[in-house]
Amino acid sequence: MERSIPKMNQQLADKRAIVTGSFQGIGLGIATALASAGADIVLHGLATPDVIETAEATVLAAGASSVQSYVTDLRNSSETEELIENLLKMGPIDILVNNAGIQHTAPLEEMSRQKWNDIIAINLSSYFDTMRLLLPQMREREFGRVINIASVHGLVASVNKAPYVAAKHGVIGLTKVAALEYADAGDAQSGGVTVNAICPGWVSTTLIEPQIQLRVEKHGGDRVAGVADLLGEKQPSKRLSAASEIGELALWLCNPAAHNLTGSAIPIDGGWTAQ
Ligand code: NAD
Repeated sequence: MERSIPKMNQQLADKRAIVTGSFQGIGLGIATALASAGADIVLHGLATPDVIETAEATVLAAGASSVQSYVTDLRNSSETEELIENLLKMGPIDILVNNAGIQHTAPLEEMSRQKWNDIIAINLSSYFDTMRLLLPQMREREFGRVINIASVHGLVASVNKAPYVAAKHGVIGLTKVAALEYADAGDAQSGGVTVNAICPGWVSTTLIEPQIQLRVEKHGGDRVAGVADLLGEKQPSKRLSAASEIGELALWLCNPAAHNLTGSAIPIDGGWTAQ
């Protein structure tokens, strides 16, 4: 039987989404895309009041039904438990986007144990915390979307990124297990509960700025040449992605028509992992 497909611009009018690490960068791009479909948005991360205010204005201007902001440190799982408990007191969460992440580049032997701990805690363990706390109520309601922002580095490695690559590979494994455990929740009509990973290549955000700066220095301060050098090494399209483009993909995954797309790791990488 044909199902009526909601218009994209109202698709999420009755849905509530939390995006971790969403006061800037890819997280804000995703929150803005979900807002454009009318979702209630919960912004989250570590940021100053003015950055939070700007992010809130951005998602409201995009069409969010409402916006709330929370500052918590994802390295502390009891803070995450308290955050989720408070959110659920106000109502269910339909969409969880695990996006918060940090990067630090150094050869393995020079990587400090503290950096390892922080990267694993933020980029991997926090995804486990939010998923274990939010997936059960998605099953009960027969609809839910978990979108984990992994990376090409969940699929392939690069030098000098041991904890980051380990965490991102872990995110893809975690995504697959959760997808299997929740695959039979709901049905095509309700939209089911899906769990997927998005694997971006280079995206224009502050996270990659230190890596860009190294290339800019190599090219005598020429930023265009520095960015081209970075892209030329790995990303065949030779184009950076914009955060809004990752948002468009996340929005599509929230469509009930995507009920059978689960357990996937979707590259958006200009061909990086096709090589
Ligand atoms: P970003 O630095 O702009 O944003 C990271 C966000 O994470 C910020 O909002 C920050 O507040 C939050 N965060 C960091 N530590 C936190 C903590 N301890 N507790 C709570 N929040 C914390 O970076 P981005 O490029 O937008 O990265 C977003 C995600 O995309 C990350 O998981 C990153 O690994 C992934 N990614 C980025 C790229 C890229 O090229 N930019 C490529 C692939 C994957």
